[in-house]
Amino acid sequence: MDDFSKNEGFIWFDGELIDWKDAKVHVLTHGLHYASSVFEGERCYDGKIFREIEHTERLHHSANTLGFKIPFSIDEICKIRKLVLDSNKIRDGYIRPVAWRGSEMMGISAQKNTIHLAVAAWEWPSYYSPEARLKGIKLDLSKWRRPSPETAPVSTKAAGLYMICTLAKHEAEEKGCQDALMLDHRGYIAETTSANIFMVMNDEIHTPLPDCFLNGITRQEVIKIAKNLGIRVVERHMKLEELQKASEVFVTGTAAEVTPVSQIGELVFKPSAISKKMIEEYNKITS
Ligand code: PMP
Repeated sequence: MDDFSKNEGFIWFDGELIDWKDAKVHVLTHGLHYASSVFEGERCYDGKIFREIEHTERLHHSANTLGFKIPFSIDEICKIRKLVLDSNKIRDGYIRPVAWRGSEMMGISAQKNTIHLAVAAWEWPSYYSPEARLKGIKLDLSKWRRPSPETAPVSTKAAGLYMICTLAKHEAEEKGCQDALMLDHRGYIAETTSANIFMVMNDEIHTPLPDCFLNGITRQEVIKIAKNLGIRVVERHMKLEELQKASEVFVTGTAAEVTPVSQIGELVFKPSAISKKMIEEYNKITS
């Protein structure tokens, strides 16, 4: 069985590079009990980190929103990331910075807790050719809904937001789907468990307004690509019934890149020209 804690290599942990196996935290860590933890998911392609500054700024934003300050600047985190990639000899990989509150106070209040930062990275080549991607993935329609901005810090990558994502993803996998589509607290289409969603309608691209979920960095790039291609992009609230009018559906994210969708519940889609074009154009800006 694979186990990420048993990989070979080095992880940067609170100021130094240490052996992968020694990168551990104590069980009385606030982040573990109360989800006071934020993270990023980043990729590097042929040694170049994709949208590095945007990801690092988002990490700071996530921490600030949870009320703590990461004790390393944007510039310092970029240097740490390079050290981690170089020492593990990774050129095509996934990078996972994570920051969390430590164990000084063990209760809801964590005013005095120290803030920790770790950065790990592992090999992750881009596996799928555009043709293979065009087969598409199947999405389950989840019963879990994205919370309102009054309920949770929705614009962050805070660990606690992923509790319902793991529930939704497990339920989807049990039904033979690769991921789940989640609605928001109002019943509008939101996103999947870790990617934003786009629908092609009458040669335009429609996508939900990110007012209660992450406005993904890939999402923003894909919108720019579409606009540069002269495709009209409409960001708006979208009802579930509208999926019936979509000719193509695709999702975007650091891990998913641009991945077409072949089925959502009973609805079937045929990934075609626009999905193919978006995959190709996204490949161009990442390679
Ligand atoms: N939504 C969620 C919940 C995510 O975890 C991610 C992945 N970070 C995304 C959307 C896509 O964001 P990005 O394109 O910045 O990776």
